[in-house]
Amino acid sequence: MMAATFHKPATVDDAVRVLSDAGEGGRPISGGATLVAMMNAKLVEPDVLVSLSAIAELKDFGRAPDGTVRIGAMRRHRETAFESDLSGGQAVVAKAASQIANPPVRNMGTIGGSIAFADPAADYPPALVAADATIEIAGPDGRRLVPAEEFFLGWYETAVEPGEIVTAVLLPPAPERAVGHYEKLCRVAGDFALASVALVLALDGDGTVTHLRLAVGGCGGGPVRCPEAEALVVGAAPGAERIAALAERLVEDLDPVDDSRGSAEYRLQIVPRLIAKAFDEALTEMEPAR
Ligand SMILES: Cc1cc2nc3c(=O)[nH]c(=O)nc-3n(C[C@H](O)[C@H](O)[C@H](O)COP(=O)(O)OP(=O)(O)OC[C@H]3O[C@@H](n4cnc5c(N)ncnc54)[C@H](O)[C@@H]3O)c2cc1C
Repeated sequence: MMAATFHKPATVDDAVRVLSDAGEGGRPISGGATLVAMMNAKLVEPDVLVSLSAIAELKDFGRAPDGTVRIGAMRRHRETAFESDLSGGQAVVAKAASQIANPPVRNMGTIGGSIAFADPAADYPPALVAADATIEIAGPDGRRLVPAEEFFLGWYETAVEPGEIVTAVLLPPAPERAVGHYEKLCRVAGDFALASVALVLALDGDGTVTHLRLAVGGCGGGPVRCPEAEALVVGAAPGAERIAALAERLVEDLDPVDDSRGSAEYRLQIVPRLIAKAFDEALTEMEPAR
């Protein structure tokens, strides 16, 4: 195998141009946590590697006046986990980041690399769906925006086309008083999820659910959200029976597989418990404000 040509452009436009010129053999590299391991195992053998590490705008974090948060694709998991400006409903993303692997991986991996790779058991995908995030993608024809719900297309498949890169994740302001929570079950500490649940929940002063977005990870090719199941809880108090009914309806839409971490059947059994726990934690966090 020939050694790959290495490029380190300073702008998104240059990165996209080099990748487009490289065609099939080109790959962007961000943290390298996954790509380098895949290259070492000869699972991929790129001819051209385009490092995104010198592109300043990809490292930015910012909040627009309307409350929308922009997380640059090169933000490391550690930075997102400790981002104090991710509070309320948007905190679901920081909580997911804090549960990725272990400190070395969180120091290396980036949000752009993680969602572009789209491991079905990864932590960001359900959190971004729960947060109603939008993904910004740059390509030869400019930039486009894709809702997180349409970004994850299936097993390791996303809306990113060859020659394109993820440039940012945008989080809309969550409703007032919303709380975000991320619940993950893994076989051993630091592992990918057997299954996970992300939710953003808001109640009014009477304890009625006014907003709910809930997504499950690790139980199909991408995160699973079921608005029909959420509707069983919205407009009512979030009691145990309603939450159980939500879980029962949502489980019908899951499509887990047996793998080395656990069986499909086990995953289907634990998801309702993770959902109940996620509600419990979110409601407890709201307690002082209610
Ligand atoms: C031991 C270990 C344990 C892990 N455990 C977990 C876990 O528990 N939960 C979890 O969620 N993840 C886990 N991961 C994955 C980790 O989060 C990686 O950070 C992530 O998968 C890839 O991010 P990266 O920045 O290192 O991407 P890279 O390794 O640089 O790239 C990954 C892939 O994405 C492409 N790519 C990179 N950046 C972009 C971009 N901006 N636009 C388009 N394509 C791009 C690359 O070409 C490559 O195909 C683990 C990884 C390891 C090594």
